[in-house]
Amino acid sequence: DGVRIRRALLSVSDKSGLVAFARSLADAGVELISTGGTAKAIAAAGLAVRDVSELTGFPEIMDGRVKTLHPNVHGGLLAIRDDGEHRAAMDAHGIEAIDLAVINLYPFEEVRAAGGEAAEIIENIDIGGPAMIRAAAKNHAYVTIVTDPDDYARVAETLAENDGMVPLALRRELAALAYGRTAAYDAAISGWFAGDLGIEAPRHRGFGGQLREVMRYGENPHQKAAFYVNGDRRPGVATAELLQGKKLSYNNINDTDAAFELVSEFALADGPACAIIKHANPCGVAVASSQADAYRRALRCDPTSAFGGILAFNCELEAETAEEIVKLMTEVIIAPAVSAAAQQIIAKKKNLRLLVTGAMADPAAAGVHVKSVAGGLLVQERDNGRIAQSALQVVTKRAPSDAEIADLLFAFRVGKHVKSNAIVYARDGATVGIGAGQMSRVDSARIAARKSEDAALAAGEAKPLTAGSVVASDAFFPFADGLLSAVEAGATAVIQPGGSMRDAEVIAAADEAGIAMVFTGMRHFRH
Ligand code: 5GP
Repeated sequence: DGVRIRRALLSVSDKSGLVAFARSLADAGVELISTGGTAKAIAAAGLAVRDVSELTGFPEIMDGRVKTLHPNVHGGLLAIRDDGEHRAAMDAHGIEAIDLAVINLYPFEEVRAAGGEAAEIIENIDIGGPAMIRAAAKNHAYVTIVTDPDDYARVAETLAENDGMVPLALRRELAALAYGRTAAYDAAISGWFAGDLGIEAPRHRGFGGQLREVMRYGENPHQKAAFYVNGDRRPGVATAELLQGKKLSYNNINDTDAAFELVSEFALADGPACAIIKHANPCGVAVASSQADAYRRALRCDPTSAFGGILAFNCELEAETAEEIVKLMTEVIIAPAVSAAAQQIIAKKKNLRLLVTGAMADPAAAGVHVKSVAGGLLVQERDNGRIAQSALQVVTKRAPSDAEIADLLFAFRVGKHVKSNAIVYARDGATVGIGAGQMSRVDSARIAARKSEDAALAAGEAKPLTAGSVVASDAFFPFADGLLSAVEAGATAVIQPGGSMRDAEVIAAADEAGIAMVFTGMRHFRH
Protein backbone atom coordinates (compact mmCIF):
# COMPACT_ATOMS: atom_id res chain seq x y z
CA ASP A 1 0.00 0.00 0.00
CA GLY A 2 3.00 2.32 -0.28
CA VAL A 3 3.02 5.18 -2.76
CA ARG A 4 6.33 6.21 -4.26
CA ILE A 5 6.96 9.93 -3.96
CA ARG A 6 8.20 11.35 -7.25
CA ARG A 7 7.06 14.94 -7.08
CA ALA A 8 6.49 17.21 -4.09
CA LEU A 9 4.90 20.62 -3.80
CA LEU A 10 6.21 22.73 -0.93
CA SER A 11 4.53 25.97 0.13
CA VAL A 12 5.12 27.02 3.70
CA SER A 13 4.92 30.21 5.73
CA ASP A 14 6.72 28.66 8.69
CA LYS A 15 10.02 27.75 7.08
CA SER A 16 11.51 25.97 10.08
CA GLY A 17 12.97 22.61 9.17
CA LEU A 18 12.17 23.26 5.52
CA VAL A 19 15.66 23.07 4.03
CA ALA A 20 16.63 19.85 5.82
CA PHE A 21 13.39 18.19 4.75
CA ALA A 22 13.69 19.45 1.16
CA ARG A 23 17.23 18.11 1.06
CA SER A 24 16.15 14.66 2.22
CA LEU A 25 13.45 14.67 -0.46
CA ALA A 26 15.92 15.74 -3.13
CA ASP A 27 18.32 13.01 -1.97
CA ALA A 28 15.48 10.50 -2.39
CA GLY A 29 15.16 11.65 -6.01
CA VAL A 30 11.96 13.66 -5.47
CA GLU A 31 11.32 16.60 -7.80
CA LEU A 32 10.62 19.77 -5.83
CA ILE A 33 8.03 22.37 -6.86
CA SER A 34 7.45 25.44 -4.78
CA THR A 35 5.91 28.90 -4.35
CA GLY A 36 7.78 32.23 -4.21
CA GLY A 37 9.33 32.53 -0.76
CA THR A 38 9.54 28.80 -0.17
CA ALA A 39 11.24 28.24 -3.54
CA LYS A 40 13.72 30.98 -2.73
CA ALA A 41 14.65 29.36 0.57
CA ILE A 42 15.10 25.96 -1.07
CA ALA A 43 17.15 27.36 -3.96
CA ALA A 44 19.31 29.34 -1.53
CA ALA A 45 20.30 26.01 0.04
CA GLY A 46 21.58 24.94 -3.37
CA LEU A 47 18.76 22.53 -4.20
CA ALA A 48 17.04 22.29 -7.56
CA VAL A 49 13.46 23.58 -7.37
CA ARG A 50 10.79 24.34 -9.98
CA ASP A 51 8.70 27.41 -9.52
CA VAL A 52 4.98 26.73 -9.32
CA SER A 53 4.44 29.46 -11.94
CA GLU A 54 6.16 27.18 -14.41
CA LEU A 55 3.60 24.48 -13.59
CA THR A 56 0.59 26.79 -13.83
CA GLY A 57 1.86 28.95 -16.69
CA PHE A 58 0.67 31.82 -14.52
CA PRO A 59 2.56 34.29 -12.35
CA GLU A 60 1.66 34.69 -8.68
CA ILE A 61 -0.83 37.56 -8.72
CA MET A 62 -2.67 39.92 -6.37
CA ASP A 63 0.00 40.01 -3.68
CA GLY A 64 0.01 36.23 -3.49
CA ARG A 65 -3.74 35.88 -3.05
CA VAL A 66 -3.65 33.69 -6.16
CA LYS A 67 -0.56 31.50 -6.50
CA THR A 68 -1.53 27.87 -6.54
CA LEU A 69 -5.26 28.08 -7.28
CA HIS A 70 -4.92 26.40 -10.66
CA PRO A 71 -6.08 23.12 -12.27
CA ASN A 72 -2.48 22.06 -12.85
CA VAL A 73 -1.95 22.13 -9.09
CA HIS A 74 -5.31 20.82 -7.93
CA GLY A 75 -5.55 18.30 -10.78
CA GLY A 76 -2.11 17.02 -9.83
CA LEU A 77 -3.22 16.64 -6.20
CA LEU A 78 -6.72 15.27 -6.81
CA ALA A 79 -6.34 12.89 -9.77
CA ILE A 80 -7.20 9.25 -9.08
CA ARG A 81 -4.09 7.75 -10.53
CA ASP A 82 -5.64 4.51 -11.82
CA ASP A 83 -8.90 6.00 -13.15
CA GLY A 84 -9.00 6.03 -16.95
CA GLU A 85 -10.86 9.31 -17.25
CA HIS A 86 -8.66 11.05 -14.72
CA ARG A 87 -5.57 9.86 -16.55
CA ALA A 88 -7.00 11.04 -19.88
CA ALA A 89 -7.67 14.48 -18.33
CA MET A 90 -4.10 14.62 -17.06
CA ASP A 91 -2.73 13.71 -20.48
CA ALA A 92 -5.03 16.11 -22.34
CA HIS A 93 -4.11 19.09 -20.13
CA GLY A 94 -0.53 18.26 -19.30
CA ILE A 95 -1.23 17.82 -15.58
CA GLU A 96 1.60 16.22 -13.62
CA ALA A 97 0.86 14.10 -10.56
CA ILE A 98 1.91 15.62 -7.21
CA ASP A 99 2.54 12.86 -4.64
CA LEU A 100 3.52 14.91 -1.63
CA ALA A 101 2.27 18.29 -0.43
CA VAL A 102 4.15 20.12 2.29
CA ILE A 103 2.05 23.07 3.36
CA ASN A 104 1.62 25.28 6.36
CA LEU A 105 -0.56 28.33 6.38
CA TYR A 106 -0.30 32.09 6.58
CA PRO A 107 0.14 32.85 10.30
CA PHE A 108 -3.40 34.13 10.87
CA GLU A 109 -3.44 33.20 14.56
CA GLU A 110 -0.10 34.87 15.30
CA VAL A 111 -0.92 38.08 13.44
CA ARG A 112 -4.25 38.22 15.25
CA ALA A 113 -2.64 37.58 18.63
CA ALA A 114 -0.10 40.33 17.95
CA GLY A 115 -3.03 42.70 17.55
CA GLY A 116 -2.57 43.57 13.89
CA GLU A 117 -4.84 45.89 11.91
CA ALA A 118 -7.97 44.32 10.43
CA ALA A 119 -6.59 44.64 6.89
CA GLU A 120 -3.39 42.86 7.88
CA ILE A 121 -5.28 40.13 9.70
CA ILE A 122 -7.54 39.58 6.69
CA GLU A 123 -4.54 39.40 4.36
CA ASN A 124 -3.32 36.56 6.55
CA ILE A 125 -6.35 34.41 5.80
CA ASP A 126 -4.74 31.75 3.63
CA ILE A 127 -6.87 30.59 0.72
CA GLY A 128 -4.70 28.51 -1.58
CA GLY A 129 -2.97 26.70 1.30
CA PRO A 130 -6.12 25.22 2.89
CA ALA A 131 -7.43 24.34 -0.59
CA MET A 132 -4.27 22.35 -1.33
CA ILE A 133 -4.22 20.76 2.13
CA ARG A 134 -7.83 19.63 1.78
CA ALA A 135 -7.28 18.38 -1.78
CA ALA A 136 -4.17 16.40 -0.86
CA ALA A 137 -5.82 14.96 2.25
CA LYS A 138 -8.92 13.96 0.31
CA ASN A 139 -6.72 12.09 -2.14
CA HIS A 140 -4.65 10.42 0.59
CA ALA A 141 -5.09 7.13 -1.29
CA TYR A 142 -2.31 8.52 -3.51
CA VAL A 143 -1.00 11.67 -1.89
CA THR A 144 0.88 12.42 1.33
CA ILE A 145 0.05 15.70 3.07
CA VAL A 146 2.37 17.21 5.66
CA THR A 147 1.13 20.29 7.52
CA ASP A 148 3.36 20.38 10.58
CA PRO A 149 7.17 20.78 10.57
CA ASP A 150 7.16 18.39 13.55
CA ASP A 151 6.24 15.62 11.09
CA TYR A 152 9.09 16.26 8.62
CA ALA A 153 11.53 13.96 10.38
CA ARG A 154 9.29 10.93 10.52
CA VAL A 155 8.18 11.33 6.91
CA ALA A 156 11.84 11.58 5.85
CA GLU A 157 12.67 8.50 7.93
CA THR A 158 9.73 6.60 6.47
CA LEU A 159 10.90 7.43 2.94
CA ALA A 160 14.43 6.27 3.73
CA GLU A 161 13.22 3.03 5.31
CA ASN A 162 10.59 2.22 2.64
CA ASP A 163 12.49 2.77 -0.56
CA GLY A 164 10.95 6.22 -1.17
CA MET A 165 7.40 5.15 -0.33
CA VAL A 166 4.87 6.26 2.28
CA PRO A 167 2.53 3.56 3.66
CA LEU A 168 -1.23 4.08 3.66
CA ALA A 169 -1.48 4.11 7.46
CA LEU A 170 0.77 7.17 7.67
CA ARG A 171 -0.99 8.91 4.76
CA ARG A 172 -4.29 8.45 6.58
CA GLU A 173 -2.93 9.73 9.85
CA LEU A 174 -1.44 12.78 8.16
CA ALA A 175 -4.77 13.41 6.37
CA ALA A 176 -6.54 13.41 9.73
CA LEU A 177 -4.01 15.91 11.09
CA ALA A 178 -4.45 18.02 7.96
CA TYR A 179 -8.21 18.38 8.32
CA GLY A 180 -7.73 19.05 12.03
CA ARG A 181 -5.43 21.90 11.07
CA THR A 182 -7.77 23.47 8.52
CA ALA A 183 -10.69 23.10 10.95
CA ALA A 184 -8.74 24.85 13.72
CA TYR A 185 -7.61 27.52 11.27
CA ASP A 186 -11.15 28.32 10.19
CA ALA A 187 -12.32 28.18 13.81
CA ALA A 188 -9.74 30.84 14.66
CA ILE A 189 -10.90 32.98 11.74
CA SER A 190 -14.53 32.52 12.76
CA GLY A 191 -13.60 33.35 16.35
CA TRP A 192 -11.99 36.58 15.18
CA PHE A 193 -15.09 37.65 13.29
CA ALA A 194 -17.27 36.66 16.23
CA GLY A 195 -15.14 38.07 19.04
CA ASP A 196 -13.22 41.03 17.71
CA LEU A 197 -15.99 42.18 15.46
CA GLY A 198 -18.55 41.84 18.23
CA ILE A 199 -20.87 39.09 17.02
CA GLU A 200 -21.15 37.44 20.38
CA ALA A 201 -23.49 34.48 19.89
CA PRO A 202 -21.71 31.25 20.93
CA ARG A 203 -23.02 29.62 17.75
CA HIS A 204 -20.62 31.80 15.76
CA ARG A 205 -17.61 30.79 17.78
CA GLY A 206 -15.43 27.88 16.88
CA PHE A 207 -14.91 25.41 19.69
CA GLY A 208 -11.84 24.03 18.01
CA GLY A 209 -8.46 25.41 18.84
CA GLN A 210 -4.93 25.60 17.65
CA LEU A 211 -2.51 23.19 19.20
CA ARG A 212 -0.23 25.25 21.46
CA GLU A 213 1.75 22.47 22.99
CA VAL A 214 1.78 18.79 23.74
CA MET A 215 2.38 18.37 27.46
CA ARG A 216 4.41 15.69 29.15
CA TYR A 217 1.21 14.38 30.70
CA GLY A 218 -2.26 15.37 31.82
CA GLU A 219 -3.91 15.49 35.21
CA ASN A 220 -2.04 12.25 36.02
CA PRO A 221 1.22 10.89 34.59
CA HIS A 222 -0.50 8.09 32.64
CA GLN A 223 -2.75 10.54 30.76
CA LYS A 224 -1.51 12.18 27.56
CA ALA A 225 -2.44 15.82 27.22
CA ALA A 226 -2.17 18.92 25.08
CA PHE A 227 -3.01 22.60 25.33
CA TYR A 228 -5.12 24.16 22.58
CA VAL A 229 -5.71 27.87 22.25
CA ASN A 230 -8.74 29.19 20.43
CA GLY A 231 -7.62 32.67 19.46
CA ASP A 232 -9.87 34.25 22.12
CA ARG A 233 -7.75 37.10 23.46
CA ARG A 234 -9.24 37.15 26.96
CA PRO A 235 -6.26 37.98 29.19
CA GLY A 236 -5.35 34.92 31.21
CA VAL A 237 -3.26 31.83 31.28
CA ALA A 238 -3.49 31.25 27.50
CA THR A 239 -2.30 34.73 26.55
CA ALA A 240 0.19 35.31 29.38
CA GLU A 241 3.92 35.54 28.93
CA LEU A 242 6.05 33.22 31.06
CA LEU A 243 8.86 35.38 32.43
CA GLN A 244 10.60 32.64 34.38
CA GLY A 245 10.25 29.04 35.52
CA LYS A 246 9.49 25.71 33.89
CA LYS A 247 6.64 25.21 31.44
CA LEU A 248 3.25 24.96 33.06
CA SER A 249 1.81 21.50 33.58
CA TYR A 250 -1.77 20.53 32.81
CA ASN A 251 -2.79 21.07 36.44
CA ASN A 252 -0.86 24.35 36.60
CA ILE A 253 -2.76 25.68 33.61
CA ASN A 254 -6.10 24.63 35.04
CA ASP A 255 -5.37 26.12 38.46
CA THR A 256 -3.79 29.29 37.09
CA ASP A 257 -6.88 29.87 35.00
CA ALA A 258 -9.07 29.50 38.08
CA ALA A 259 -6.82 31.89 40.02
CA PHE A 260 -6.76 34.64 37.41
CA GLU A 261 -10.46 34.38 36.60
CA LEU A 262 -11.21 34.75 40.31
CA VAL A 263 -8.94 37.71 40.94
CA SER A 264 -10.34 39.38 37.80
CA GLU A 265 -13.62 39.73 39.72
CA PHE A 266 -11.98 42.60 41.57
CA ALA A 267 -11.32 45.86 39.76
CA LEU A 268 -8.48 48.12 40.75
CA ALA A 269 -11.12 50.43 42.24
CA ASP A 270 -11.92 47.64 44.74
CA GLY A 271 -8.28 47.75 45.86
CA PRO A 272 -5.35 45.40 45.32
CA ALA A 273 -6.62 41.80 45.37
CA CYS A 274 -4.96 38.44 45.80
CA ALA A 275 -6.32 34.94 45.26
CA ILE A 276 -4.53 31.75 46.31
CA ILE A 277 -5.67 28.61 44.51
CA LYS A 278 -5.18 24.92 45.16
CA HIS A 279 -6.75 22.30 42.91
CA ALA A 280 -8.87 24.94 41.18
CA ASN A 281 -10.45 26.07 44.47
CA PRO A 282 -9.46 29.20 46.38
CA CYS A 283 -7.92 28.69 49.81
CA GLY A 284 -7.72 32.42 50.44
CA VAL A 285 -8.85 35.62 48.75
CA ALA A 286 -8.49 39.17 49.98
CA VAL A 287 -8.85 42.78 48.91
CA ALA A 288 -6.87 45.26 50.98
CA SER A 289 -5.35 48.71 50.89
CA SER A 290 -1.94 47.37 49.89
CA GLN A 291 -1.03 44.40 47.73
CA ALA A 292 1.27 42.86 50.33
CA ASP A 293 -1.54 43.12 52.84
CA ALA A 294 -3.97 41.46 50.43
CA TYR A 295 -1.49 38.60 50.07
CA ARG A 296 -0.95 38.25 53.84
CA ARG A 297 -4.67 38.30 54.54
CA ALA A 298 -5.43 35.80 51.77
CA LEU A 299 -2.72 33.55 53.16
CA ARG A 300 -4.08 33.76 56.69
CA CYS A 301 -7.35 32.10 55.63
CA ASP A 302 -5.76 28.68 55.14
CA PRO A 303 -1.94 28.76 55.27
CA THR A 304 -1.71 24.96 55.32
CA SER A 305 -3.48 24.59 51.98
CA ALA A 306 -1.71 27.59 50.44
CA PHE A 307 1.59 25.65 50.43
CA GLY A 308 2.46 24.92 46.79
CA GLY A 309 -0.43 27.04 45.59
CA ILE A 310 -1.05 29.39 42.69
CA LEU A 311 -1.16 33.14 43.32
CA ALA A 312 -3.09 35.65 41.26
CA PHE A 313 -3.08 39.43 41.59
CA ASN A 314 -5.22 42.13 39.99
CA CYS A 315 -2.42 44.69 39.78
CA GLU A 316 1.31 44.92 39.13
CA LEU A 317 3.31 42.62 41.39
CA GLU A 318 5.27 44.77 43.83
CA ALA A 319 8.59 44.14 45.54
CA GLU A 320 7.08 44.13 49.03
CA THR A 321 4.65 41.39 48.03
CA ALA A 322 7.39 39.45 46.24
CA GLU A 323 9.46 39.45 49.45
CA GLU A 324 6.55 37.86 51.28
CA ILE A 325 5.86 35.33 48.51
CA VAL A 326 9.38 33.90 48.35
CA LYS A 327 9.17 32.92 52.03
CA LEU A 328 6.73 30.18 51.10
CA MET A 329 6.64 27.38 48.52
CA THR A 330 4.52 28.61 45.61
CA GLU A 331 4.09 27.06 42.15
CA VAL A 332 2.87 29.90 39.96
CA ILE A 333 2.29 33.66 40.13
CA ILE A 334 0.05 35.37 37.59
CA ALA A 335 -0.44 39.14 37.48
CA PRO A 336 -1.16 41.80 34.86
CA ALA A 337 2.40 43.14 35.27
CA VAL A 338 5.47 42.91 37.47
CA SER A 339 7.78 45.66 38.69
CA ALA A 340 11.49 45.31 37.90
CA ALA A 341 12.31 45.07 41.61
CA ALA A 342 9.69 42.37 42.20
CA GLN A 343 10.96 40.40 39.22
CA GLN A 344 14.49 40.41 40.67
CA ILE A 345 13.21 39.06 43.96
CA ILE A 346 11.19 36.31 42.29
CA ALA A 347 14.22 35.42 40.13
CA LYS A 348 15.89 33.99 43.24
CA LYS A 349 13.33 31.17 43.10
CA LYS A 350 14.26 29.58 39.77
CA ASN A 351 11.40 27.09 39.65
CA LEU A 352 8.70 29.58 40.54
CA ARG A 353 6.76 30.36 37.39
CA LEU A 354 5.95 34.00 36.82
CA LEU A 355 3.26 34.83 34.29
CA VAL A 356 2.33 38.29 33.11
CA THR A 357 -0.90 38.94 31.22
CA GLY A 358 -0.55 42.62 30.38
CA ALA A 359 -4.18 43.26 31.34
CA MET A 360 -7.03 42.05 33.49
CA ALA A 361 -9.93 40.03 32.10
CA ASP A 362 -13.41 41.56 32.08
CA PRO A 363 -15.51 39.48 34.49
CA ALA A 364 -18.72 40.59 32.78
CA ALA A 365 -17.59 39.63 29.28
CA ALA A 366 -19.37 36.90 27.38
CA GLY A 367 -17.54 33.69 26.61
CA VAL A 368 -17.98 29.99 26.12
CA HIS A 369 -17.40 27.21 28.60
CA VAL A 370 -16.94 23.67 27.28
CA LYS A 371 -16.92 20.42 29.21
CA SER A 372 -16.74 16.90 27.89
CA VAL A 373 -19.14 14.13 28.78
CA ALA A 374 -19.09 10.55 27.52
CA GLY A 375 -20.04 10.83 23.88
CA GLY A 376 -20.30 14.58 23.67
CA LEU A 377 -19.56 18.12 24.69
CA LEU A 378 -21.58 20.37 26.94
CA VAL A 379 -21.35 24.01 25.93
CA GLN A 380 -22.63 26.95 27.92
CA GLU A 381 -21.99 30.66 28.30
CA ARG A 382 -19.38 31.44 30.91
CA ASP A 383 -20.83 32.44 34.29
CA ASN A 384 -20.51 36.21 33.96
CA GLY A 385 -23.42 36.90 36.29
CA ARG A 386 -22.76 39.61 38.87
CA ILE A 387 -24.92 40.83 41.70
CA ALA A 388 -25.16 44.55 42.31
CA GLN A 389 -25.98 45.86 45.76
CA SER A 390 -29.29 47.20 44.42
CA ALA A 391 -30.36 43.65 43.52
CA LEU A 392 -30.10 42.37 47.09
CA GLN A 393 -33.35 41.57 48.82
CA VAL A 394 -33.28 41.80 52.61
CA VAL A 395 -35.45 38.98 53.99
CA THR A 396 -34.76 39.18 57.73
CA LYS A 397 -35.93 41.59 60.41
CA ARG A 398 -32.42 42.92 60.73
CA ALA A 399 -30.88 44.51 57.65
CA PRO A 400 -27.14 44.08 57.14
CA SER A 401 -24.88 47.04 57.95
CA ASP A 402 -22.89 48.74 55.18
CA ALA A 403 -19.76 46.89 56.25
CA GLU A 404 -21.65 43.59 56.21
CA ILE A 405 -23.04 44.34 52.75
CA ALA A 406 -19.56 44.97 51.38
CA ASP A 407 -18.37 41.65 52.81
CA LEU A 408 -21.49 39.80 51.64
CA LEU A 409 -20.94 40.94 48.05
CA PHE A 410 -17.26 40.05 48.31
CA ALA A 411 -18.01 36.57 49.68
CA PHE A 412 -20.68 35.86 47.07
CA ARG A 413 -18.31 36.90 44.29
CA VAL A 414 -15.63 34.56 45.63
CA GLY A 415 -18.24 31.81 46.06
CA LYS A 416 -18.87 31.86 42.31
CA HIS A 417 -15.33 30.47 41.89
CA VAL A 418 -15.60 27.74 44.52
CA LYS A 419 -16.73 24.22 43.57
CA SER A 420 -20.25 23.48 44.78
CA ASN A 421 -21.43 23.16 47.40
CA ALA A 422 -19.65 26.39 48.20
CA ILE A 423 -19.68 28.16 51.54
CA VAL A 424 -17.49 31.24 51.96
CA TYR A 425 -16.99 33.15 55.20
CA ALA A 426 -15.52 36.63 54.89
CA ARG A 427 -14.57 39.52 57.13
CA ASP A 428 -13.15 42.92 56.22
CA GLY A 429 -12.58 42.06 52.56
CA ALA A 430 -10.87 38.73 53.18
CA THR A 431 -12.09 35.16 53.19
CA VAL A 432 -11.77 33.56 56.63
CA GLY A 433 -13.17 30.11 55.85
CA ILE A 434 -13.94 28.32 52.58
CA GLY A 435 -15.87 25.06 52.28
CA ALA A 436 -15.71 23.58 48.78
CA GLY A 437 -16.89 20.65 46.77
CA GLN A 438 -18.99 18.84 49.36
CA MET A 439 -22.07 16.85 48.46
CA SER A 440 -24.00 18.46 51.30
CA ARG A 441 -24.17 22.17 52.03
CA VAL A 442 -24.06 21.68 55.77
CA ASP A 443 -20.76 19.79 55.40
CA SER A 444 -19.29 22.68 53.38
CA ALA A 445 -20.37 25.10 56.13
CA ARG A 446 -18.85 22.92 58.87
CA ILE A 447 -15.60 22.31 56.99
CA ALA A 448 -15.18 26.04 56.34
CA ALA A 449 -15.75 26.78 60.03
CA ARG A 450 -13.36 24.06 61.14
CA LYS A 451 -10.65 25.33 58.78
CA SER A 452 -11.16 28.79 60.21
CA GLU A 453 -10.62 27.42 63.74
CA ASP A 454 -7.41 25.76 62.54
CA ALA A 455 -6.24 28.97 60.91
CA ALA A 456 -6.94 30.91 64.11
CA LEU A 457 -4.95 28.35 66.10
CA ALA A 458 -2.07 28.63 63.65
CA ALA A 459 -2.20 32.43 63.96
CA GLY A 460 -2.33 32.17 67.76
CA GLU A 461 -5.76 33.73 67.99
CA ALA A 462 -8.30 32.72 70.58
CA LYS A 463 -11.44 33.05 68.49
CA PRO A 464 -11.99 31.38 65.10
CA LEU A 465 -11.55 33.79 62.19
CA THR A 466 -15.24 33.33 61.39
CA ALA A 467 -16.30 35.13 64.58
CA GLY A 468 -18.12 38.24 63.41
CA SER A 469 -17.88 37.25 59.75
CA VAL A 470 -20.49 37.08 57.01
CA VAL A 471 -21.23 33.96 54.99
CA ALA A 472 -22.11 33.30 51.34
CA SER A 473 -23.73 30.20 49.92
CA ASP A 474 -23.56 29.54 46.15
CA ALA A 475 -27.08 28.07 46.20
CA PHE A 476 -30.02 28.18 48.58
CA PHE A 477 -29.98 26.47 51.95
CA PRO A 478 -32.39 23.56 51.52
CA PHE A 479 -32.78 23.29 55.30
CA ALA A 480 -32.02 25.54 58.24
CA ASP A 481 -29.15 23.31 59.41
CA GLY A 482 -26.52 24.81 57.07
CA LEU A 483 -27.47 28.30 58.17
CA LEU A 484 -27.43 27.31 61.84
CA SER A 485 -23.95 25.87 61.52
CA ALA A 486 -22.84 29.22 60.03
CA VAL A 487 -24.44 31.05 62.97
CA GLU A 488 -22.60 28.73 65.32
CA ALA A 489 -19.33 29.65 63.57
CA GLY A 490 -20.07 33.29 64.41
CA ALA A 491 -21.51 34.63 61.16
CA THR A 492 -23.66 37.73 61.59
CA ALA A 493 -25.02 38.04 58.04
CA VAL A 494 -25.84 35.66 55.19
CA ILE A 495 -26.03 36.00 51.40
CA GLN A 496 -27.65 33.28 49.33
CA PRO A 497 -29.81 33.00 46.20
CA GLY A 498 -33.02 32.00 48.01
CA GLY A 499 -35.74 30.05 46.28
CA SER A 500 -35.91 26.95 48.48
CA MET A 501 -39.25 25.37 49.37
CA ARG A 502 -38.20 25.92 52.98
CA ASP A 503 -37.11 29.57 52.62
CA ALA A 504 -39.61 30.55 55.33
CA GLU A 505 -38.04 28.06 57.77
CA VAL A 506 -34.54 29.31 56.97
CA ILE A 507 -35.58 32.97 57.34
CA ALA A 508 -37.25 32.19 60.69
CA ALA A 509 -34.06 30.52 61.91
CA ALA A 510 -32.03 33.57 60.85
CA ASP A 511 -34.43 35.92 62.64
CA GLU A 512 -34.33 33.80 65.75
CA ALA A 513 -30.52 33.95 65.74
CA GLY A 514 -30.71 37.72 65.20
CA ILE A 515 -28.65 37.69 62.00
CA ALA A 516 -29.26 39.53 58.74
CA MET A 517 -29.89 37.71 55.48
CA VAL A 518 -30.12 38.83 51.85
CA PHE A 519 -31.30 36.94 48.76
CA THR A 520 -29.57 37.44 45.40
CA GLY A 521 -32.00 35.60 43.13
CA MET A 522 -28.90 34.36 41.30
CA ARG A 523 -27.20 31.03 41.82
CA HIS A 524 -23.52 30.28 41.18
CA PHE A 525 -23.20 26.51 40.87
CA ARG A 526 -19.77 25.37 39.78
CA HIS A 527 -19.53 21.63 39.34
P1 5GP B 1 5.75 31.57 0.01
O1 5GP B 1 6.53 31.93 1.25
O2 5GP B 1 6.21 30.28 -0.58
O3 5GP B 1 5.73 32.72 -1.00
O4 5GP B 1 4.24 31.38 0.44
C1 5GP B 1 3.84 30.26 1.17
C2 5GP B 1 2.46 30.44 1.70
O5 5GP B 1 1.53 30.72 0.65
C3 5GP B 1 1.92 29.17 2.37
O6 5GP B 1 1.52 29.50 3.68
C4 5GP B 1 0.74 28.74 1.51
O7 5GP B 1 -0.28 28.14 2.29
C5 5GP B 1 0.32 30.02 0.86
N1 5GP B 1 -0.34 29.84 -0.43
C6 5GP B 1 -0.03 28.99 -1.40
N2 5GP B 1 -0.83 29.18 -2.48
C7 5GP B 1 -1.68 30.19 -2.19
C8 5GP B 1 -2.74 30.85 -2.88
O8 5GP B 1 -3.07 30.55 -4.03
N3 5GP B 1 -3.40 31.83 -2.21
C9 5GP B 1 -3.06 32.21 -0.94
N4 5GP B 1 -3.76 33.18 -0.36
N5 5GP B 1 -2.06 31.61 -0.27
C10 5GP B 1 -1.37 30.62 -0.87
